[in-house]
Amino acid sequence: MRPYGLPDEDGSGGMFKRGHGVVHCLLLETAAGLALVDTGWGQRDCYSPTPALRQFAGLVRSPLDPEETAVCQLRGLGYRPADVKHVFLTHLHLDHAGGLPDFPLATVHAAAEEIEAFLQPRTLMERRAYRPEHGAHAPRWQAHDTRGAAWLGLEAGPPMPLGETEIVFVPLRGHTRGHCAIAVRIGERWLLHCGDAYGYYRQADPVQPYAHPNGRLVEWAVTAGFGMPRRHWAVLRQLRHKHGEVVSAFCSHDAHELAVAQEVQRSGPATA
Ligand SMILES: [Zn+2]
Repeated sequence: MRPYGLPDEDGSGGMFKRGHGVVHCLLLETAAGLALVDTGWGQRDCYSPTPALRQFAGLVRSPLDPEETAVCQLRGLGYRPADVKHVFLTHLHLDHAGGLPDFPLATVHAAAEEIEAFLQPRTLMERRAYRPEHGAHAPRWQAHDTRGAAWLGLEAGPPMPLGETEIVFVPLRGHTRGHCAIAVRIGERWLLHCGDAYGYYRQADPVQPYAHPNGRLVEWAVTAGFGMPRRHWAVLRQLRHKHGEVVSAFCSHDAHELAVAQEVQRSGPATA
């Protein structure tokens, strides 16, 4: 996607220049079957988008390319959609949950407040950004309590075992009612999918935090306009500072972080 205001890798760009963004999803191959963390757009979004979806995709200049959907990519790896047993969602905004209808047999996991917000939207923003068509196949929801436990010092839900790995919901509320980062244990290490808690990798960089020439304006637009609370950036910086050796954190829309992850994957797939 090419939204206005998303900085390029080197920090250049600005409010009136389109950046280069992606929709970063994970495919987990576990002994309990395949699982996805976020789905990105779905096939139907690409072939016959509803007017609301087409409007959003136009705004962020998403090409809605069916080849890029999760279902198409996992078919390319030799899997079938029915092999996906679980989908974990950072939140249910249209660009994260659009692929749900492509995996109708999967159990769909999200924070309890997030599922409630999707099923009973209250605000104009919720009614625009959650698309009922993404849940029209009546998925098997599994609502997660995101309180009562801790993960590396942060408030979190209790770990959910999944084959040889485990999944933890780490609440970073604000972008949506139940927005969470999703931690996936890989042996002794963790991947942390931060969803839309930030949008540009240097916002959560412990060494060189965000330094954009139009920084204040972009920050205002991102935090006020898209509801990504700045306090989360400090939490994630501190997490990286303290636990950077065991945590690889990344967000949904940063192209640089996706390129880094793909490079790691090429040099040897992560195994639990
Ligand atoms: Zn998003």
